[in-house]
Amino acid sequence: MTRIVHVNGAYLPEDQATISIFDRGFLMADGVYEVTTVVDGKLIDFDGHFARLERSLSELGIRNPMDRDAWLEVHRELVARNALDMGLIYLQVTRGAPGDRDFAFPDPETTEPTVVLFTQSNPALIDSPKARKGIKVVTIEDLRWGRRDIKTVQLLYPSMGKMMALRAGADDAWMVQEGEVTEGTSNNAYIIKDGRIVTRALSNDILHGITRAAVLRFAREVQMPVEERSFTVDEAKAADEAFVTSASSFVMPVVAIDGVALGDGMPGALTKRLRDIYIEESRKAAI
Ligand code: PMP
Repeated sequence: MTRIVHVNGAYLPEDQATISIFDRGFLMADGVYEVTTVVDGKLIDFDGHFARLERSLSELGIRNPMDRDAWLEVHRELVARNALDMGLIYLQVTRGAPGDRDFAFPDPETTEPTVVLFTQSNPALIDSPKARKGIKVVTIEDLRWGRRDIKTVQLLYPSMGKMMALRAGADDAWMVQEGEVTEGTSNNAYIIKDGRIVTRALSNDILHGITRAAVLRFAREVQMPVEERSFTVDEAKAADEAFVTSASSFVMPVVAIDGVALGDGMPGALTKRLRDIYIEESRKAAI
């Protein structure tokens, strides 16, 4: 089946979808994105992703081309047209294609934002082999810009970080600033010590994960203590458990940091419990 994608209001087979070579997303990474997970054909945390999209756009002064209900309708239409059961919907909004390359932003009255959405299927989303084994991370310096709270399509450094991890025989990288972990290349980072969950507090240093918000809420509901504060690489290596969260990986156990195994080198019990709670609760609340 050919995938049907959405470009600026039209539903098209993927090989017929095009955008301008002058698009500022292409020329300048001047755009934002969201990834919403689809489970049983339903959207997980749609309203959280919509709220963050609005915030990212407003921080960059890009007009939101659609209201909540219109965005929801496009998401649902793509799920239906692609018969998507398990996977994700990627959406991107850029400042548009003014026709010439210029550092100054184009006049928003005459240049419309570009909207692109597509689906990716992933049948192994929930019963993931990686989640059963856990992942290994390496630490690298965080060389990204200072507004990591805005979900821009400027993903070159995280992509390089992922490659550094793969080349080192690991699965992902945790980025480090002044000795303290900021986050993973595409996820938020956590450690657990003596039953306490520790994760960096929200600021411009990290993306405000939608999964992070949900997982911390569920943890507090079942009386697991949560500390929102920075932690060092040494503290992480001495932790009992560690994990990462993101829309597409849910709660993913981390079993080694820079070659140092955590606990017995297997996914930790509290991490597994959080993953189960997150999947169960999000499934119930999906729309
Ligand atoms: N941090 C970064 C840098 C990310 O790219 C992502 C995933 N997009 C996250 C955290 C996790 O965010 P979410 O839970 O909203 O997917």
